[in-house]
Amino acid sequence: MTATLTPPDRRPALATASASGPRGRGPRGGELARQRARRARGRRFVSDLLVWAVWASGAAAAALYLASGGMADWGSLSGVLTGLGIVAGLVGSDFVLVMLVLAARIPLLDAAIGHDRAMGVHRQLGKPALYLILGHFVLLTLGYGLAQGIDPVTETGILWTTPDMIWAYLALGAMVAVVITSLVAVRRKLSYEFWYVVHLLSYVSVLGAIPHQLSASSVLIEGAWQRGYWIALYVVALGSIVIFRFLEPMIQSLRHGMTVERIEWLTNDTAAIHLRGRDLDKLRARGGQFFYWRFWTSRTWWHVHPLSLSAAPTATRARITVRVLGKGTSRITDLLPGTRVSFSGPFGLFTDAARGARRLAVVAAGVGVTPVRAMLEDSRLEPGEATVVVRSSHDDALIHWDELRSLADAQGTALYRITGPRGRTGGWMSQRDRDRGVTLRTVFPQLDDSDLYICGPTAWADSLVAEARAAGVPDRRIHMERFDW
Ligand SMILES: Cc1cc2nc3c(=O)[nH]c(=O)nc-3n(C[C@H](O)[C@H](O)[C@H](O)COP(=O)(O)OP(=O)(O)OC[C@H]3O[C@@H](n4cnc5c(N)ncnc54)[C@H](O)[C@@H]3O)c2cc1C
Repeated sequence: MTATLTPPDRRPALATASASGPRGRGPRGGELARQRARRARGRRFVSDLLVWAVWASGAAAAALYLASGGMADWGSLSGVLTGLGIVAGLVGSDFVLVMLVLAARIPLLDAAIGHDRAMGVHRQLGKPALYLILGHFVLLTLGYGLAQGIDPVTETGILWTTPDMIWAYLALGAMVAVVITSLVAVRRKLSYEFWYVVHLLSYVSVLGAIPHQLSASSVLIEGAWQRGYWIALYVVALGSIVIFRFLEPMIQSLRHGMTVERIEWLTNDTAAIHLRGRDLDKLRARGGQFFYWRFWTSRTWWHVHPLSLSAAPTATRARITVRVLGKGTSRITDLLPGTRVSFSGPFGLFTDAARGARRLAVVAAGVGVTPVRAMLEDSRLEPGEATVVVRSSHDDALIHWDELRSLADAQGTALYRITGPRGRTGGWMSQRDRDRGVTLRTVFPQLDDSDLYICGPTAWADSLVAEARAAGVPDRRIHMERFDW
């Protein structure tokens, strides 16, 4: 039975009968809440440690130069420029290697700080790494030229013909292309496929830089410990990519032998893809997590899609639910049963495990309901502990609604839906509920004691985050799964 609360109770339509609602008894197990808070503190500490480790690795790269006695040449301007150029090159290259490790999808890193955080730091390092590498080229060209009494253009000509330097210039060109196409303003104008192909140039950039580092560097000379350290950095970074982006996913996919079982259309643009395989429960995927999926047909093999589980996997079954957005999703919702599937994951921290507070507040819109549906199934919730709001343009567009209702009924979770067009001023809720005075606080009266989980279209989610922050919810208790790249 669905009950609609009539105004003035400024809350949207309540969908579950048994839920004692936010005013209910609420969660027992102070110990559970303490455990959660401890875990959340631990994760924040590790996350901060990561940032410190990045800076420390940069400082270690600079220390390679200091330890080589390079500052002995700082008696002249050319010596200073050359020294600064060498340090910029070492630190810039170090940051590029750190970016590779962060993008390698290492499960331990994902479990500690989450995929989004790792990729966030990866993106933040892009520009500083490029500026340092550009500085490396400019400062060395000026320093070497000054030492020989020649202008930078002539010096560049000489460097261009120096062994291994042509690879270094090509590596720089590749890096410039990668960073420029990854600038938000530029990326938005590119198709994901084009951006992805250009981004593969990052490997050309990393590999192209190696020869001149080992042949022309005054720091990484034969027999010096600095050279061993530097080669070890490359082995770790490139090794992480090979192992976690290629080998592990390949072994995992072969081990679980996943194939498409059937496609089930839920709405006119959203379908559930039912998958079958072996020992899928051994993937230890948490509800709310996602995988990178590759579907092996001639029309789909080349485009990997990150898609969240929309139900907790069993030993032989898993499910993802996909909204047709572009070419790729229209093709993967048209797959034949038996289509082979490879995957990497699970990834992400949009799970019950990331909670730090006693209560759970969830708002999901459109296909953003998929990780929420799986997370609810995977969470041990007390009656009244959780409140879930599902936002949809209209009732027919609600995805997995019946499953959400039975999960909510079983757990004593309050489940609300907000349907209808968005407000004139945008925002996350319908104009109708806004006019009725519904706000985040009226929906979640115990917001101060809750983790807020948000999943849906970016602009919609950003407006919700803005309202949550304005309502005093600290960022550490806001968990968001972004569906765009
Ligand atoms: C962590 C995560 C979980 C997701 N879970 C789901 C889900 O459960 N159900 C669902 O329907 N969608 C989900 N998505 C979104 C889904 O990945 C994209 O909608 C899909 O890949 C679009 O592909 P396309 O070829 O149809 O569209 P395109 O036309 O190629 O792209 C449309 C938009 O989709 C995004 N996109 C395309 N390919 C990728 C990619 N490989 N990585 C990231 N973004 C991409 C880009 O923002 C692009 O602008 C998720 C995305 C992320 C990042």
